[in-house]
Amino acid sequence: MVVPSPTYEEQLKAYEGRAATVAGVGKDPVNEPMIRHWCEAMGDTNPAYAGPDAMAPPTMLQVWTMGGLSGHTGRSEAYDELFALLDGAGYTSVVATDCEQEYLRPLRPGDEITFDALIESVSGRKTTKLGTGYFVTTRMDVRAGGELAGTHRFRILKYAPAQRNQRKRTEQPSPKDSSNPKSRRPRPVINRDNAGFWEGVARHQLLIQRCGGCGALRFPWLPGCNACGCLEWDTVEASGDGTVYSYVVMHHPSFPAFDPPYAVGLVELSEGVRMVSNVVGVPYDKVRIGMPVRLEFQRYDEELELPVFRPGGTGEGGGG
Ligand code: ZN
Repeated sequence: MVVPSPTYEEQLKAYEGRAATVAGVGKDPVNEPMIRHWCEAMGDTNPAYAGPDAMAPPTMLQVWTMGGLSGHTGRSEAYDELFALLDGAGYTSVVATDCEQEYLRPLRPGDEITFDALIESVSGRKTTKLGTGYFVTTRMDVRAGGELAGTHRFRILKYAPAQRNQRKRTEQPSPKDSSNPKSRRPRPVINRDNAGFWEGVARHQLLIQRCGGCGALRFPWLPGCNACGCLEWDTVEASGDGTVYSYVVMHHPSFPAFDPPYAVGLVELSEGVRMVSNVVGVPYDKVRIGMPVRLEFQRYDEELELPVFRPGGTGEGGGG
């Protein structure tokens, strides 16, 4: 990694205020089918988003500007240049950190969307748990019929990954060579909203959140209840019994830490919530919907242990 000089930071700062997208045009006008799909995916049944006077959920703001696989026109070179400058100095990794939106008017089916984006700020050099790098904030102004409808601020950290601590080799070997950081399973992103879940995993407990207001169980962990909005909660420990609600078999793309083909299951716990995990101990092509499975904790390397599911449990075992 090149040690950045003040001149380097000045080079980065010079991108502040430069356009990231100029005169972008939404690929589709605001439309009911996309609103319906979004609401179904989010489980949002708010009546404001359906019917003859429907408005789009405000949080769809960025959706109307997305270019899809083919990209969109109007992308300026400044953003790519800034990324190349960061890549060239060793800040090769990227993570989205946060997003802020402001809404000025509702969007309704038929609204034609245009947008502009600029690089609003490039931070000084920062060191985080992930590594050292620079926060880049982009601001997008979204217009409907030429009128400003909302603003979307999006922040990423472009960083050089922190070196892992030297490893002790006292634990059982993982299925993959754990001496190569690239072949290690990705680490969970632990934050204040989900820390309790991972503390449970460390004690070999699978903890489900229970709403303090309405008692609804929820998984994955969230700060509040999407049934009643209550922010109070406690936990219940899962019995560990479940069934495969659905599954996919991963063949491609292959990541160094994984050994395809392998089955990723959506497991419905006996408590009623569902979680994504691996189904282990069975050939990938023998996993079936409805297969009874039982929780266990699998160690992947000296610092990573994950809840996984193995056929068996309360049913006949082995499924079928
Ligand atoms: Zn609730």
